[in-house]
Amino acid sequence: MTSVGHSLAGLSLYFIFNRKLSLLKEWKNVLFFLILANLPDLDFLPGIVSGDLNRYHHGASHSIGFCLLVGVIAAGIYKLRKNAPFINPVRNARKPVRENKISNWVKYGFISFCLCFSHILIDLFGRDTCPPYGEKLFWPFSNKYFIASFTPFGEVDHTSLMTIVLNPCNYVVVLKEIIVFIPILLGIFIFIKVKNKKCT
Ligand SMILES: [Zn+2]
Repeated sequence: MTSVGHSLAGLSLYFIFNRKLSLLKEWKNVLFFLILANLPDLDFLPGIVSGDLNRYHHGASHSIGFCLLVGVIAAGIYKLRKNAPFINPVRNARKPVRENKISNWVKYGFISFCLCFSHILIDLFGRDTCPPYGEKLFWPFSNKYFIASFTPFGEVDHTSLMTIVLNPCNYVVVLKEIIVFIPILLGIFIFIKVKNKKCT
């Protein structure tokens, strides 16, 4: 899967969790969601350094353990920040401010976990023709690799940075991701817009 599909999924989660539709005004929050939705692919970095792009791909960073770690770190960062939070998860106006503050760091960690985990789930549906097939979904509890039996998006050529850009097969994967994720994104956008209107 490419960063296009992951970013569209991250944007969908942004609308679900933040319920704000003004992307430009909220660009910092949007950027935060996009980075976390793509974070597991940071495993390409040691591959770039070693000269073998795929070497560490779909390892520990594509696992539930990594997502939990990101969630815990994000919650910790939120809790340590005494002033205005960088991101403001949905507040419950009926609850006292102090209670809101306590629960917000949990929400912050949960949202961060969900963003990372969306990446892992989506990658399960990408074709993988090089062993080991799939990703270490349940690491560190299991080292077994998992992949969905239905992989409609095809395989992304990660042989090198050049092939990522130049291989036409990668553009087909991007096109499939757009076809699948844009309608989902628009559906969520319209749903939130209607819901927001009803609340005002
Ligand atoms: Zn990935």
